[in-house]
Amino acid sequence: MLLATRQPACRTASRAEAVTRSWGRAFTTALASPITDGVNLPDPLPLPALHASHGSTWLRADGATQAIAKGEAIMAAADTPVLLINAPLVAARLGYPDLSGLDLLEAFAFVHPARFCVPTPRGLAEALGLPVPAGDADVPALLQQAAGALLAAVSDPEWFERAGAWSALQSLERLRWPWAQVLKPHIAKPEKAERWLFAALPEWEEAPERAQPRQVDLAPADVLAELARLTGAEAEQREGQRAYAQDALRIFAPRAAKGVPHLALAQAGTGIGKTLGYLAPAALWTRASGGTVWVSTFTKNLQRQLRRESRRAWPVKRADGSPPVVVRKGRENYLCLLNLEDALQGGFAGRPAVLAQLVARWAAFSSDGDMIGGDLPGWLGTLFRKRGIASLTDSRGECIYAGCPHYRKCFIERAARSSAQADLVIANHALVMVNAARARDPAQRPTRLIFDEGHHVFDAADSTFAATLSAQETMELKRWITGPEREGRGRRRGLAARLADIASDDEVGGEAIAAAVKAASQLPSEGWMARIHEGNPFGPIEALLAAVRTATYARDESGAADSGYGIETEAADLPGEVIEAAGNAADALAAIRVPLIRLGGRLEAVLADPPDWLDAQGRARIEGARFALAWRIDLLGGWEALLARLGGPADPDFVDWLAVERSEAREFDIAIHRRWLDPMKPFARVVLEPAHGVMLTSATLTDRTESGDDDAQWASAIARSGAAHIAARPMLSAASSPFDYAGRAEVLIVTDIRKGDLPALAGAYARIIEASGGGVLGLFTAIRRLRAVYGRIADRLARAGLPLYAQHVDPIDTGTLVDIFRDDARASLLGTDALRDGVDVPGQSLRCVVLEQVPWPRPDILHKARRAANGGAAYDDRIIRARLAQAFGRLIRSKDDAGHFIVLSPAFPTRLLSAFPQGTPVLRVTLDEALQRLAAGVSREDTAPEPSGPDHLSKDARLT
Ligand code: SF4
Repeated sequence: MLLATRQPACRTASRAEAVTRSWGRAFTTALASPITDGVNLPDPLPLPALHASHGSTWLRADGATQAIAKGEAIMAAADTPVLLINAPLVAARLGYPDLSGLDLLEAFAFVHPARFCVPTPRGLAEALGLPVPAGDADVPALLQQAAGALLAAVSDPEWFERAGAWSALQSLERLRWPWAQVLKPHIAKPEKAERWLFAALPEWEEAPERAQPRQVDLAPADVLAELARLTGAEAEQREGQRAYAQDALRIFAPRAAKGVPHLALAQAGTGIGKTLGYLAPAALWTRASGGTVWVSTFTKNLQRQLRRESRRAWPVKRADGSPPVVVRKGRENYLCLLNLEDALQGGFAGRPAVLAQLVARWAAFSSDGDMIGGDLPGWLGTLFRKRGIASLTDSRGECIYAGCPHYRKCFIERAARSSAQADLVIANHALVMVNAARARDPAQRPTRLIFDEGHHVFDAADSTFAATLSAQETMELKRWITGPEREGRGRRRGLAARLADIASDDEVGGEAIAAAVKAASQLPSEGWMARIHEGNPFGPIEALLAAVRTATYARDESGAADSGYGIETEAADLPGEVIEAAGNAADALAAIRVPLIRLGGRLEAVLADPPDWLDAQGRARIEGARFALAWRIDLLGGWEALLARLGGPADPDFVDWLAVERSEAREFDIAIHRRWLDPMKPFARVVLEPAHGVMLTSATLTDRTESGDDDAQWASAIARSGAAHIAARPMLSAASSPFDYAGRAEVLIVTDIRKGDLPALAGAYARIIEASGGGVLGLFTAIRRLRAVYGRIADRLARAGLPLYAQHVDPIDTGTLVDIFRDDARASLLGTDALRDGVDVPGQSLRCVVLEQVPWPRPDILHKARRAANGGAAYDDRIIRARLAQAFGRLIRSKDDAGHFIVLSPAFPTRLLSAFPQGTPVLRVTLDEALQRLAAGVSREDTAPEPSGPDHLSKDARLT
């Protein structure tokens, strides 16, 4: 009441004061009053609640909600802890970075760890079973209700996530977590002392090694029967899917010659049902052979879908309790329990320590300990701003394996063991390649592989087989060898501490460790950038990086230096200073590598002839160390080879360049890069040759060339599969999409937005989003333009009730942004490359895709080299067609979807129109005409469309 009766003239001070005064009363009442279940809803928590959109700010206190100015909101929040949702986002909208309060998301993470929640008022309401607020003005009331619902949940004797909550709350209270005082009266002390997380987690079990798979030749009729079983008796039979499943079966036939796998390339139009199409033969083969199939994806979204669909073929658990389907990720994705223990015991302080407690709550209920894309909410880390999540994983390779007290409960070890016993392993391209290159146990390397989203295999191989010698990389190596530079950073220890027993018991091993540690002390360390800028580098690597920086700035002609981007220069005809510094740096790296090789030899000798003190745990730890050592020795060898090349002739297999990495005009790294000109060459050797059957499949595997000629359309898919580097001839198959693109989609090329006219571009985006009523995915080729457009239109759209979110602007991770977009049909989302190919939003939430301009490839050194080797301008066109096809693919995800694909570029070349599915109408129109067509929905009336290109493999093609 108090706020509702204030007059605008005296509002600013008095509201904040009023809230402050009422806070004490409300807080006391809230803590004292038990949560009572109403007829349908729990009582709201009567604390002040704040909500800020782009358009306005609302504060609710004493039962009334009012719009207030940003300044008032800041004062209110500074004086009293207010209820809010997503504090960093509210802070960004108020322009007040220090904003804090009672964030409902933190409370949700405590009360319901490992449960999904979209981090918006609407998402929170849905997660808690509350009515969704009708508009922004209703959000503060929702926040009070949500707080009430959470208190009701913890007061319920049946609260599912009660275990460990009381103990965690004691720690959180000591850390002055604002929610501790609110929750405490409602969480009863358990009668029996709660078990500590590390004691409560289950241990994994050792299992016998899996036998080699039996060689079986399966009948196509059996695959069709299996497919019918998986799709269900009621499902309509899809000819494209049946043909696809039979084609996929062929990679499971016994291999005829060593080093020559069955290789299949399968173009699978969106909507043919490709997932079950390959899971059917995979399930049949695993049952008949007892072997394991790996399915590799590029996006986490597809991993989630695969996990869901695999339930049709495999049970969640076998009779012995083991899982037949396992999602496997890189170790840097999983929680390291030892790092968490360090964080809980003083390694983290302040807000990061609160994060560690919430992560510990989650770890007790997580299905697999996956922190990135698993059941840990993607938004949790961003609430705490710093890199807390990353430091709780094993991203630095410091695992001490069996020397770790939590080894038998370790999520990473559990995942590795489960995947060795699984029928189906769902992984990602990078992990599959790394695993193929350096799996600890060669018997665990995948031999039957399906690369879904196969059009990304080339890029994944490009990154996996790259070499980068940089300040950041060398500092990482230094930390691994010598330990942390500063004291008091938790457990992190160097090689000497991890292998203390070897150092003291084996003279040669001890000397090798000492020599490696001494040599590694010459690697870059904290403060390297300042020393280089001052002309005072330390050690030979910093000296090299200083010379690289000087040469790069001297030779760069891109103009990127002035616009804040990174700069680069070819590693050719380098100045004498760089060559000389490279020689010294190579010597310094060899001085580290040589003792590491000696140490590796000693570890092998210890394992071959174990001393008395070496128990099973010690043995496992030394095996782990030997594996980690081999990886670092390879890394050092790669760097030395790269440096050796700088002064000599170019190697035609590689592209080498120097770079100063910058972001927003600030330098953050200096590097020498090496990439394979064709990364499918090492891919073929490491992944294809050892395998027995491999399939690459995707909706955009083949190229939609202008000519429509089959050979031309397959040429790049074959070249980018690695087939040219092995003796196998790939089997090709194609199934076209059953979707009615011609009737349900329109491509509009807007002809009156001039390139470089930012106000016009922003205006066009705003008007398109307004005409469409939200549901727009806006794709940009430059972050700078994305931010500028967002800054100009977000307020205007918010006032119209059209929320706008953006990658690189909102403090929210990309996966969560997509969840938010999917959840609200009036929301729109702006983003860059990751969204062009990673968004699967069927239905109303995505009804228009807008491309700001033709997605030309960036003309960097690597691109120039590949362009020259692959046909010049035709290579560029192929890349653009692929990007356009991927972006267009976001629009129609199910047979009921319909919408517009808009390109805001008058200079869109006609030759690229073949990128769109055959028959899709393409119209060149003004912005006004485009808006009219948007408002009218997809229709094909008067205007004669341009043809969208040839019949792209329009008939289901089955070629061999
Ligand atoms: S075994 Fe390694 S990764 Fe697992 S908890 Fe221990 S140190 Fe961390």
